[in-house]
Amino acid sequence: MAKVIAIANQKGGVGKTTTAVNVAASMAATKRKVLLIDLDPQGNATMGSGVDKYDVESTAFELLIEEKPIDDVIVKGTSGKYDLIAANGDVTAAEIKLMEMFAREVRLRNALKPVMDYYDFVFIDCPPSLNQLTVNALAAADSVMVPMQCEYYALEGLTALMDTIQKLASVVNPELKIEGVLRTMYDPRNRLANDVSEQLKRHFGEQVYRTVIPRNVRLAEAPSFGTPAMYYDKSSTGAKAYLALAGEILRRRDKTTPAQAKAS
Ligand code: ADP
Ligand code: MG
Repeated sequence: MAKVIAIANQKGGVGKTTTAVNVAASMAATKRKVLLIDLDPQGNATMGSGVDKYDVESTAFELLIEEKPIDDVIVKGTSGKYDLIAANGDVTAAEIKLMEMFAREVRLRNALKPVMDYYDFVFIDCPPSLNQLTVNALAAADSVMVPMQCEYYALEGLTALMDTIQKLASVVNPELKIEGVLRTMYDPRNRLANDVSEQLKRHFGEQVYRTVIPRNVRLAEAPSFGTPAMYYDKSSTGAKAYLALAGEILRRRDKTTPAQAKAS
């Protein structure tokens, strides 16, 4: 049975897409069967996987709105060697159409059912807002991964996000767990980053991944070559960090905290 992990944070530019693409590739490199779902109309995870968002036959739109069978929507074997459900501008229309649909929160969850026994991991790259697409991701997921930058206001935003996730979870997916908080674009020479990181660990304890993603230019360059960092520069600190993260996710597999338990 696949483990479904939604990568979410309503803030843009925190490393969601970079994490989605690189963790999918790293997990695929461990010989697990991986599906990456791009739910952001910007289609950055699609392009970063080496798939041209302007030239795909179908996207998450056809899956969510037109009920096209999932096998016909999946792009097999990207340059990162995982399967992909693509996104482009069409997915904006999906967000709007979902609003008026029956059982709109669980359309992704239902659409995934036929492939749940085939994949080991499904990662979902969420858009930078808490809209119907993100709600669908959270309803389909076993757990949420929250990437964040260790900045001054980060903790405040994070507490608000966790609250929202818990509230949503109680309505659409009581089983949802917080997989973990991931520190991204980390610069150990930055004192503020170290302070925020310490506070984060105090506040969220075991929910903070031990793996830290460093700021690394290779991670920013790789998407322009349509490839995860490990196939662009496998010795880069960024590529290594995401391999370590995949290892940590495997070790954590059955050790996640229920989202609701933290609600009080
Ligand atoms: P989001 O999906 O949350 O909007 P992205 O993953 O697109 O965030 O990252 C925002 C920008 O930061 C992108 O240009 C990306 O290449 C860059 N970036 C992300 N993570 C790193 C990192 N660890 N080191 C350097 N640049 C990064
Ligand atoms: Mg993104």
